[in-house]
Parts: sequence; structure tokens; C-alpha cells
Amino acid sequence: MRFFIGLVLFNLFNGAQISFAQSNLFQPYDCRAEVEINNRIEKERLARELAIKDSIEQVEAQLALLKQEEIKRLLEYEQHAWMHWATASNFTFGKDRGNLPMITELNSLHPFFRDRVVRLIYQCKQKGIELAIVETFRTHAKQDEYKTMGKKYTRSGAGKSKHQYGLAVDLVPIVNGQPEWHNRALWRKIGIIGEQLGLRWGGRWRSLYDPGHFEWTGGLNAFDLANGKLPRIPKQEINYPCLENDLALLKFYQEQWESEQASYAHKNP
Ligand SMILES: [Zn+2]
Repeated sequence: MRFFIGLVLFNLFNGAQISFAQSNLFQPYDCRAEVEINNRIEKERLARELAIKDSIEQVEAQLALLKQEEIKRLLEYEQHAWMHWATASNFTFGKDRGNLPMITELNSLHPFFRDRVVRLIYQCKQKGIELAIVETFRTHAKQDEYKTMGKKYTRSGAGKSKHQYGLAVDLVPIVNGQPEWHNRALWRKIGIIGEQLGLRWGGRWRSLYDPGHFEWTGGLNAFDLANGKLPRIPKQEINYPCLENDLALLKFYQEQWESEQASYAHKNP
């Protein structure tokens, strides 16, 4: 175990790009069990960082559930050669969001960002705010659809949206069973919680006020992302020992969704 942690720290501090053989893509379990070893350290860090000591266990339970779900999905993937992700169809949240389904799967996001979003949802719930996931990862085809729908749908003109890297999420509060899009005071509460978790909040943008949008790039700019740089997770973060491996796998699934939605868009112009 000491060796393992040493190895992880070595890799993190050196920012080493762990290379892996193609065959490893389908053996994502190798160090997953070790993740549990780090839970205690993560728990202490969270307690300090979030100052919500009583609910740490519950946050962890949520994360554990996601991980379980992920493993289930991985097993299913091996059977069907397709990663099933949750989607939402147009008008699910009362707005025209185009014909292509929106991917709403949290596991389609960068794992570090995903876990921040889980905490955001959970902390809002603690405050009585229920959040629905409107969109997570976005394919090129979906982004193109928004572009044709007009300026209010995306602020990334020529560039890519952070959604296309799995580094952004769109959420909406649900009040009395209905999406509440126009409650500024409520958005502000949610936005502040997100910012405290280190996320960039679209409610601060003037050019396209987008209060349901949260993103995280690990310090990278649009140019870095376009050049394939991977966001760095904080140095002290040791809860992602298989990150490089997980990201490669995630990219593989994302590319499958890319082709799926590209052909859907082609067939349903
Ligand atoms: Zn967004």
C-alpha cells in the first residue's frame, strides 16, 4: 500500500503522463479497489474544505454509489460494446433544446469535475434545493445544432464548448415539480455553492447569462483544451489513482457517442 501511495504521489507530483497499452483500455479495474484506501484521507480533506462534517459520510455514500454504477456500466459495456448513458429528450425541462437528445449522464464527465457536481447537487439538496441535470457531455453534432438555433444557445462561437470536453454541466432547480429557470435569487444561492466548490459559474457572465452552467478546466484555457491538454487535478488530490486510464476510457465512450449523434443528425436533418 505504501508503495502504491508512493507511486501515485510520484505520478501526481511529476505530472507524469502514465502511458498504458491499448489492451488496458478494457481492464479498468486494476487499481480501482485501491481507491477505497484513500477514502479516509479524502474524508478528512473534505471535512476541512467543505466544513460540513456531518454530511461527509453521505457525500461519500453518493460517490460510492456512482462508482458502483460505473462498474456496472463497465460490465455491461463489455457485453454490448456500447456505453449506455442517460439522456433527456427535447422539452424535458420546458425549453427548446433541439432534436438531438441531451446526454445527462454524470459519468460522461471528467471524474474530478463529476465529483464536484455531485457535491454541488448534494449540498443544494441539504439546503432544500433540488437540481435536475439538463446536460453534461455534449457531442460535436449537438453543439452544431445549438449553433444553428442561435446565439442564445451557446457562447462558444468558433471554439468548442467546455461541455464537449466533459468539463461543463447544465443544471436547473426543480420547484414544485417544475423547472424554475427565472428565479435569480435561487440561481445565486446555487451559483455561490458551486463557486465554493471551485467551479466557474455561468451566472457571472454578462455576454450570455447562463446561471445553470458550471464548468471546471483545471486551469486550462480554450487553446490548451483544443490541443488535447488534460486538466490537472489539485496536487493534494489522491482519490483518482487511475485517472489517466479512466480518462482514456471516457474518451473512447465519448467518441462513440460522437459518431452516434453525428449519424443521427445526418439521418434527421
Ligand atoms: Zn452549459
